Amino acid sequence: MKVFYSETHRLHSPAFEIFDGGLRMPYLENPDRMDQIERALRSANWAEINEPVDFGLAPILEVHDKAYLDFLASAWTEWLATDPKDPSTLLPATFALRHTPKIPKSILGRAGYYMMDLSACIVEGTYQAALSSANCALSAAQAVSDNGDRSAFGLCRPPGHHAGVDYAGGYCFINNASVAANWLSSKGRVALLDIDYHAGNGTQDIFYERDDVLTISIHADPDHEYPSFAGFADERGRDRGFGFHHNFPLPAGTSDTEYLQTLDKAIDLIKDFKPSYLVVSAGMDIYADDPLGTIKVTTDGIGSIAKRIASLNLPTAIVMEGGYANEALGRNILAFLGEFK
Ligand SMILES: [Zn+2]
Repeated sequence: MKVFYSETHRLHSPAFEIFDGGLRMPYLENPDRMDQIERALRSANWAEINEPVDFGLAPILEVHDKAYLDFLASAWTEWLATDPKDPSTLLPATFALRHTPKIPKSILGRAGYYMMDLSACIVEGTYQAALSSANCALSAAQAVSDNGDRSAFGLCRPPGHHAGVDYAGGYCFINNASVAANWLSSKGRVALLDIDYHAGNGTQDIFYERDDVLTISIHADPDHEYPSFAGFADERGRDRGFGFHHNFPLPAGTSDTEYLQTLDKAIDLIKDFKPSYLVVSAGMDIYADDPLGTIKVTTDGIGSIAKRIASLNLPTAIVMEGGYANEALGRNILAFLGEFK
């Protein structure tokens, strides 16, 4: 299986994030995550690790707002130009509720407009890392379409599924899986299945009014979990997109068996849609010991999930999302990808 991975992700390594209650914590979405996965993949004789192809900005701008991308591109330089007391990371303290469409001129004003929380910390290399991450997902999409591979893996960092058309959030800046799904949609119908522990709110927003890309997210109930404002079962798409988005919120403590029962419903929806391509947002924070998770899926359960998704027998681009139990990430990814190889 081709794996697309770039060391460029190391340029994005914020020193901290802010947890609820104002707690300053070491950044959980850290480069060590990739080191753990890369080490595991190199030990597998079926993983062929490649540098991603550079697709340029065009496929990203088909999904994201240009002014938002411009903000990401210049945010760091603008932030330093304000001579901040603590220049280590750009993080605003004031956020837009977007009751008015006005975008303020100041860098902190725009940061508050384009960010949804205190985990989308911007540092010097964030934009470059985010572009490279999108290229990993696009390269995986190209492998399963143009090259005819049955599956490919974009080892993406930073992750993407919380980033919407014009906002960053939840460690995400560019929505890698959505960029890949949109790129594939010019070649055929696409289903995007998001199994990350957290609701894929950004992906939901991006495709909410489209009927050519089916989006499904299985995740922790937003009534008690991030991202709090999206991911409810009654959110099913809008206008021509109505019926083409599905959320499956799960309670804390969900076991392998319960998870697989829900997954089967998602798989039936994908079969009914008859897509030409499948994109999987593969977050490993459903794992029982994940520090951010409350769902109790085991490593064996992750293998069973993959086996059922692979049984769809579709050209499948698998895109890395979350997963913060670093010591378990390698074996969990091997358990998942192993069913597709
Ligand atoms: Zn997550």
